[in-house]
Amino acid sequence: MQYYSLHHNAPNVPFSEAVIKGLAPDKGLYFPEKISPLPTSFFDKIKSLDNIEIGYQAIKQFVGDQIPEPVLRDILKDVLSFDFPVVEIEDSIGTLELFHGPTMAFKDVGARFMARCLEYFNQTNENKVTVLVATSGDTGGAVAQGFLGVKGVDVVILYPSGKVSDIQERQLTTLGQNITALEVDGVFDDCQDMVKTAFLDTSITDYMQLTSANSINVARWLPQLLYFLFAYKQVKSKGKDIVFSVPSGNFGNICAGIVAHKLGLPVKQFVASTNINDTVVKYMETSTYTPKPSKATISNAMDVGNPSNFIRIQELFDTNFEALKSLFSAYSFDDDSTKEAMKKIYKQSNYIADPHGAVGYLGLKKKGMQQNEYGIFLETAHPVKFRDIVEETLDTSIAIPDQIEKVMNKEKVSVKIKGYTELKDFLLNISK
Ligand SMILES: *Cc1c(COP(=O)(O)O)cnc(C)c1O
Repeated sequence: MQYYSLHHNAPNVPFSEAVIKGLAPDKGLYFPEKISPLPTSFFDKIKSLDNIEIGYQAIKQFVGDQIPEPVLRDILKDVLSFDFPVVEIEDSIGTLELFHGPTMAFKDVGARFMARCLEYFNQTNENKVTVLVATSGDTGGAVAQGFLGVKGVDVVILYPSGKVSDIQERQLTTLGQNITALEVDGVFDDCQDMVKTAFLDTSITDYMQLTSANSINVARWLPQLLYFLFAYKQVKSKGKDIVFSVPSGNFGNICAGIVAHKLGLPVKQFVASTNINDTVVKYMETSTYTPKPSKATISNAMDVGNPSNFIRIQELFDTNFEALKSLFSAYSFDDDSTKEAMKKIYKQSNYIADPHGAVGYLGLKKKGMQQNEYGIFLETAHPVKFRDIVEETLDTSIAIPDQIEKVMNKEKVSVKIKGYTELKDFLLNISK
């Protein structure tokens, strides 16, 4: 399997190189050359397969011959070591809980898969890789946890000082070892800009291999397609048409779901549910794509004004707007409606949804469920990660799960930086 750049101005590369580079040299996102459907027998007998087997069958074509079968199976065993349950909260509506991993947000699977792949590729080429990532909260924790102790990989996380929750900050500042947290005097966009500048700065990249652990990296993005297969396995026997609603920010997760559909997964409709950062919603209404600066909301992991993976979704539909429209719709919701939805779900079903999951729920309602449809919204984070807003909105308190409790009493260690020169000095120092 080769990957091509969506800017069409760089050589095709195998999986390993796409993972190590992150972005193609022409700054395009990598995309698989071919997506071959799985045999129908796979879907017929999916209920008898365990998650590792499902994962292996679905992911092997994307890895190609770059990782031998027993190693890939071991990696998947490690990555998929927790549950992905569909919990029914209403007649014909279920929530796919993706928060049972170590940092309690869905990014754990992609981060862990990417870390294990890089570790494997590094055994053979000895070249140290530095993962540089900017976070507005959840990505940093998942990446820190996923890469902790991985040989040959240093991780540098930039986060905006005072702009992430206490839990999120602890998840990325208390691990030590090969993980460094840079605490930036600024906002998320400043962190993001510095990371982008560093990737383009040859006075850094001539000396070290930098890669990204955002969903632009194929090893972070593609394993997310497994969630949709795991959900199907659980609801297949209902015999209904499945509608997925995916709380979306950078559109990596929903894009992976559409890849699962290309593999043959029966899905009637994908609903992209967003907060007021509605660039894609507007695109579906007008067929004109106009990126905007991001606006802050209570579902902050989706505060993205120019979703990087939308171009991959367009590629999956051969940039045919009508074809896209027949399978994909998008709706946007403000914070007030999100809070109302959280209250409604709590009152009616005694279920605590986090703000992102609640936006997903609203997407299903807005689309309108028809007879013989089964709606699944993805619950992308545990409510405890957005504890203040959840407790305030629902007037209740949330127990702190073990994996969070563990980091709460560890000491925070961060390096404070103000601007790009300090980031550069820091990177050049660790490359020595
Ligand atoms: C990252 C994240 C999202 C958005 O996922 P994308 O793949 O970027 O669309 C949604 N919810 C939570 C909790 C997240 O951390």
